[in-house]
Amino acid sequence: MAKMNKWDVIIIGGGLAGLTTALHLANNNCAVCLIEKNEYPNHKVCGEYVSNEILPYLKTLGVNPFSVGAKKISQFKITEVDGNSIAASLPLGGFGISRYTFDDLLYSAIKSKVQVLLDTVETVNFKENHFKITTKTKQILTADFVVGAYGKRSNLDSFLNRKFMRQSSPWLAVKAHYNYDFPEDTVALHNFNGGYCGLSKTESNAVNACYLTTFKSFKKYKNIDDFQKLEMSKNPCLHNFFTRATPLFKKPLTISQIAFHKKNPVENHIFMVGDSAGLIHPLCGNGMAMAIKSAKIFSEIFLKYYRKNNFNRRDIEIAYAKCWKREFESRLTAGRTIQRILMNPVASKIGFAAAKALPQLLPLIIKKTHGKTIT
Ligand SMILES: Cc1cc2nc3c(=O)[nH]c(=O)nc-3n(C[C@H](O)[C@H](O)[C@H](O)COP(=O)(O)OP(=O)(O)OC[C@H]3O[C@@H](n4cnc5c(N)ncnc54)[C@H](O)[C@@H]3O)c2cc1C
Repeated sequence: MAKMNKWDVIIIGGGLAGLTTALHLANNNCAVCLIEKNEYPNHKVCGEYVSNEILPYLKTLGVNPFSVGAKKISQFKITEVDGNSIAASLPLGGFGISRYTFDDLLYSAIKSKVQVLLDTVETVNFKENHFKITTKTKQILTADFVVGAYGKRSNLDSFLNRKFMRQSSPWLAVKAHYNYDFPEDTVALHNFNGGYCGLSKTESNAVNACYLTTFKSFKKYKNIDDFQKLEMSKNPCLHNFFTRATPLFKKPLTISQIAFHKKNPVENHIFMVGDSAGLIHPLCGNGMAMAIKSAKIFSEIFLKYYRKNNFNRRDIEIAYAKCWKREFESRLTAGRTIQRILMNPVASKIGFAAAKALPQLLPLIIKKTHGKTIT
């Protein structure tokens, strides 16, 4: 790829949203530069269950997660703190794949088509209808358009003075891979006091365990091990898991300050995709599909307008913000409501009793947090 530093579009962040946007735009002859701060492949804190919603779209981009061994998942199991469980078939189903492999699969698909810069973006300024970007290694790049695909929380959110950065968040998450006997067609969500833990198989046959909890619950214990043994293992399913599973990571990955606050899909003329535009509660298992779908929505709108000679930036911004809200706002609201119910012991007991009495309720709730399959 020829070296240049002026692009149609610069994408900041090479997770699922950024990589998909890059692939879609490059397949349509846009000059794209993607800037990612970490080398590929790398592990990320994530539940690693992906909704089938986006499979047909990935196919149009020439990406097939099953080519690298993704597991088909069709069953869902949820347990209360005491181990009481409910099972259901997933309305759409999904697949299990590690972020290590999934992001790398997309990266392999873009690397001959897109200029990829492994660097950290430090500033983004918009002036006279152009963007100027500076990076940690003091590179300066310019572009007509910038896509913010830098995830749930980044140095750039502080730089852009985004509102949610002024609000603190109590959430932290832990993830690791394990050897454990677990059905490969199932994703399980096990509740414990102050959080929940997802289990599902990945392409390598490792079971991914990823949990979200509050700092308040966690700080009563000295370390991750004690928290898992003394608090999470009060749920018999998690007790079984932590006593029998063999860890495959030297130590679990952790992140904190996970914010679920509302964000704007367009900020300072930057088009936000994926978690940069809004993060759904992980228990919905829909964040990755949303990240990929937002990339599709942005790319289609962008290409439609950009191909016109006299495009108006404002029209693209309005069209994208409108479409993003129509597609995702109700999912985010449903996610927040379910999270509130699960975190409240009384409401959660009532919810479980209702879901046991009405078997159609659980699939209906899952549908509320997912979109329709992309056709
Ligand atoms: C605990 C937890 C469990 C989850 N479980 C699931 C699940 O089971 N299923 C599901 O569908 N979703 C799940 N999610 C949500 C899912 O992980 C996200 O929605 C998804 O990763 C969003 O992708 P993204 O591309 O927007 O962001 P990311 O994947 O976070 O990518 C952002 C990228 O930007 C890079 N970056 C950041 N700042 C800069 C910078 N300044 N310069 C250059 N690069 C930068 C980062 O290095 C990163 O690679 C979970 C989330 C959490 C927190």
